[in-house]
Amino acid sequence: MKVAVFSTQRYDRTFLQQANDALPRPHALTFFEAPLERETAALAAGFGAVCIFVNDHADAAVLQQLAHGGTRLLALRCTGFNNVDIDAAAAAGLRVVRVAEYSPHSVAEHAVALILALDRKIHRAYNRTRDANFALDGLMGFDLHGKTVGVIGTGKIGRVFGRIMAGFGCTVLGHDPCQSPDFIAQGGHYVALHELVARSDVISLHCPLTPDTHHVMDEALLGRIKHGALLVNTSRGGLVDTEAAIEALKTGRLGGLGIDVYEQEAGLFFRDLSSTIIPDDVIQRLTSFPNVIVTGHQAFFTQEAMGTICGTTMASISAFEAGLPLADEVLPPQNL
Ligand code: NAD
Repeated sequence: MKVAVFSTQRYDRTFLQQANDALPRPHALTFFEAPLERETAALAAGFGAVCIFVNDHADAAVLQQLAHGGTRLLALRCTGFNNVDIDAAAAAGLRVVRVAEYSPHSVAEHAVALILALDRKIHRAYNRTRDANFALDGLMGFDLHGKTVGVIGTGKIGRVFGRIMAGFGCTVLGHDPCQSPDFIAQGGHYVALHELVARSDVISLHCPLTPDTHHVMDEALLGRIKHGALLVNTSRGGLVDTEAAIEALKTGRLGGLGIDVYEQEAGLFFRDLSSTIIPDDVIQRLTSFPNVIVTGHQAFFTQEAMGTICGTTMASISAFEAGLPLADEVLPPQNL
């Protein structure tokens, strides 16, 4: 099958090509560095399948253009699908698959890395010692042992994260409209959202971005968090009202912010902009705080996760070509 692969970096090409080469009937992959959006959708004309990533923009107009060009399958090489208009895809006759599960450990462990770095000021110590500054002033952290950690979204990633934090000796609170017996069995306690933010020393976001969760961490909720709590977001940028978070950092109510995702990350992340002027004042303000760590959507980026993401994506395209059921199909809500 002819597959147009958008938003590709060198490492994507390597892992996708390896997964493709391992198939009994490999596909014809064409890699584009450009993201899929209205201006680039024409590149996919004549490709039966289109493969995209987190910041590609598959709105109704793009999907109609893809369908018009002969595309029948949209394969997301990621878990979240907030960037695809699923109803419009169905209306255009496009089927959509994602990678529902690869390594929940990759993202959960990255969230823990952000917490430890923020708490123990590892980023600051790294810079100081490179300049022969071995002073400790300003580097004091707190023990995680005995603290309370709030997990918003106790799905696959949230549960792994909760288990790790329980291992540190933390009390783990969870909030999720769909409670998981596994989360309770591993010692987690479900509470209302307001109680979770009021009691937690560390809050970690692991729910998907939907109209319901957009800016779930807004000015009002940030106003209820425990003074000096840390907030970590490895899920989707739109969950946090970034300007409200900046205000909470300025007052000290938010004691630290670790983000792997950012509302306006499309156009910034996954590229080297070190020689350019960044016009986004919000990200510039964020990176000026000593108690903010930004990573560029790399939580998924482990060898294990990349191998599974690319293998699952190629297997889904093969299943579609063979007319087999699609295990990771994303259906419009009314068809579920
Ligand atoms: P999952 O579907 O297993 O779990 C999501 C959980 O969130 C579910 O239990 C769901 O009930 C819950 N939820 C839904 N609405 C909620 C709400 N309003 N409040 C609280 N919880 C709510 O998904 P997962 O595999 O754990 O992934 C979670 C998210 O992580 C994905 O949607 C994706 O956006 C993000 N993600 C980020 C990266 C990265 O590299 N940074 C990689 C993979 C996934």
